[in-house]
Amino acid sequence: MKQSPKPQPGIMDIALYESGAATVEGVANVVKMSSNENPFGPSEAATEAYARAGHNLHRYPSTDHAGLRAAIGQVHGLDPARIICGAGSDEIITFICQAFAGPRDEVIYTEHGFSMYKISALAAGAKPVKVPERERVVDVDAILSAVTKKTRIVFIANPANPTGTMVGVKELMRLARELPDEVVLVLDGAYAEYVEGFDGGAAMVDMFPNVIMTRTFSKIYGLGGLRIGWGFAQQEVIDVLNRIRGPFNLSNTQLAVAEAAVRDQAWVDKCRNDNTRLRAWLAEALAERGVPSDTSCANFVLARFVDEEEANAVDNYLKSHGIIVRRVAGYGLPHCLRITVGDEPSCRRVAHLIGEFKGSVADAG
Ligand SMILES: *Cc1c(COP(=O)(O)O)cnc(C)c1O
Repeated sequence: MKQSPKPQPGIMDIALYESGAATVEGVANVVKMSSNENPFGPSEAATEAYARAGHNLHRYPSTDHAGLRAAIGQVHGLDPARIICGAGSDEIITFICQAFAGPRDEVIYTEHGFSMYKISALAAGAKPVKVPERERVVDVDAILSAVTKKTRIVFIANPANPTGTMVGVKELMRLARELPDEVVLVLDGAYAEYVEGFDGGAAMVDMFPNVIMTRTFSKIYGLGGLRIGWGFAQQEVIDVLNRIRGPFNLSNTQLAVAEAAVRDQAWVDKCRNDNTRLRAWLAEALAERGVPSDTSCANFVLARFVDEEEANAVDNYLKSHGIIVRRVAGYGLPHCLRITVGDEPSCRRVAHLIGEFKGSVADAG
């Protein structure tokens, strides 16, 4: 008998990515608050571009993404030559690991950091190194003391997922300054648009040749299903990443819709304002019901319960009433649930149900 082929070292250590659930058996009309999606969807300009793109399916897409890069550059005031686009920021993260880390190298991510960092590091054959956070906030000193001669990449999401917390620019600047030149610092700005006036780390990219910023169309732009993300770095780094990017990694449709979406900043502003208002309402409503959370800078709230048992019971209770939130035990937060900020009726419903659950427990006790 022949044996099945052996994968590269590290591959079998990869745990499959677990996405937020989308259905509940036996419950119709579920409300999905588990994947940090924009409850309002994409802008109308993006939807119209999607319909038009259907006429171009026989054509190969642009290989250099010039139109989309120009639009992103214009909107954000960045040099389009220093932008790279990918199938979600996940693909940019993959490029970074492939290009800058390999066997015997170390890739740092933090205690409650996004799971794709570990997955991509392992896929590149490198060793993921998990560094503690301080009370669910990225700890720059802990990162610096974990750096060794083998460290090649440090991943930080700012705001972070699933905690929703941020590290200040001063702290990040200190990290960038003190990291050795050969260590790439990745600032993942998947939720940057939710912080008014925040550049996601773009200014730091101009100051440091080893800093890369990643961004996505999956969150505030409401285009998670289409898979578009981008990265910004100094020219030398972008030239490296472009060598491993497939020439046709984005379709005509992805390019056209993303370009229309980024040009509609009025939609982004509207979504940010709604999110800020509803997030504050939700956090306060949960606090009134005895469920604390850290001040979130993103489009979700990390609700903290008494223990894992209570978090799971609340999750089951919500599920039985058609609301899906995210368990985050896999992120080292078994006593928490991550709740995406939905539209107003969904936020009211989730708060009401959690209050009901807490009340019934109190009555029983
Ligand atoms: C959602 C998310 C992304 C975005 O991933 P895409 O591949 O662009 O959909 C990246 N980083 C973090 C921390 C996220 O939460």
